[in-house]
Amino acid sequence: AKDLGKNRSMTFETRMHEQLLSRLDQENRLRDAVHRGEMRLHLQPVVTVPGLAMSGAEALIRWQDPHRGLQAPGTFIPLAEETGMIIEIDRWILLEACHTVRHWQQKNPRTAPAWVSVNLSAAHLDLPDLTDHVAYALAATGLSPHCLVLELTETVLMRDVAVTSGRLDELRRLGVRIAIDDFGTGYSSLGYLRDIPVDVLKIDRSFITGLVGNGRQQELVSAIMQLGHTLGLRVVAEGVEDADQLALLSVMGCKYAQGYHLGRPEPAESLYSRLSAPVLN
Ligand code: C2E
Ligand code: CA
Ligand code: CA
Ligand code: CA
Repeated sequence: AKDLGKNRSMTFETRMHEQLLSRLDQENRLRDAVHRGEMRLHLQPVVTVPGLAMSGAEALIRWQDPHRGLQAPGTFIPLAEETGMIIEIDRWILLEACHTVRHWQQKNPRTAPAWVSVNLSAAHLDLPDLTDHVAYALAATGLSPHCLVLELTETVLMRDVAVTSGRLDELRRLGVRIAIDDFGTGYSSLGYLRDIPVDVLKIDRSFITGLVGNGRQQELVSAIMQLGHTLGLRVVAEGVEDADQLALLSVMGCKYAQGYHLGRPEPAESLYSRLSAPVLN
């Protein structure tokens, strides 16, 4: 029995060791990927309702892994957040998004998005030089500050209201806008609206799914939109997947929408060529 116990603990140690190695391996592969330039910028349009013209676009990262193909952020952002690599990744996408949209605005102002939004992970709000970095990205690319929106989730904003609102004030003094992402999924959403300076409110997809045929949910979403509009915020409905949802949202007074029904995330170049192609007739 003693031997068995020893064996078991060896197996346990071996397993731990293997897990650690595999994690280190994943970490190294991700770091190399960033340095080898395997990250890709995808853009998803945010359209006006009811006109359905592209107003702006959200930057969403992808990893073009040479072995496994295109990877969605869910497969590597959590590791990047744990290891701190997220700072470097988000800085890359910020610069890439500002550059791409600025370039597009210069090449073809008629089809270019008027603004681009970039997701920021929690770790950024702890950085004393966040504002400097954002200012640098704007200066380096020439993008106008009011063409940049920074998206932060409720859970991130919730951490320390005093620190957060100080940071956001600094950023807003540059002229950039702040969005609350996944609005409604946190626990005291109204508190943020009171204490934290924001410009855009993105209603989480979970409120849009199942909207059709659910009167109570419709009332809730209308109320959120009205509240946002009363506070002078731009309100975006996320995750619009079909025409019925869109029609309903439109009747409810929705002004901006994003979702597969209106355009999937795609490489910036392909979105550009699609929208800028001459109309054939
Ligand atoms: P998010 O910021 O809430 O982004 C919206 C997600 O919903 C995107 O997933 C988008 O592809 C997806 N989506 C858009 N429309 C629809 C729809 O109609 N139906 C459904 N089912 N999904 C839709 P994606 O690109 O996989 O990104 C997932 C999350 O990863 C993002 O959620 C964001 O939290 C994070 N993320 C993405 N890019 C970055 C980045 O550059 N930096 C950081 N820190 N996080 C990022
Ligand atoms: Ca987002
Ligand atoms: Ca979201
Ligand atoms: Ca989300």
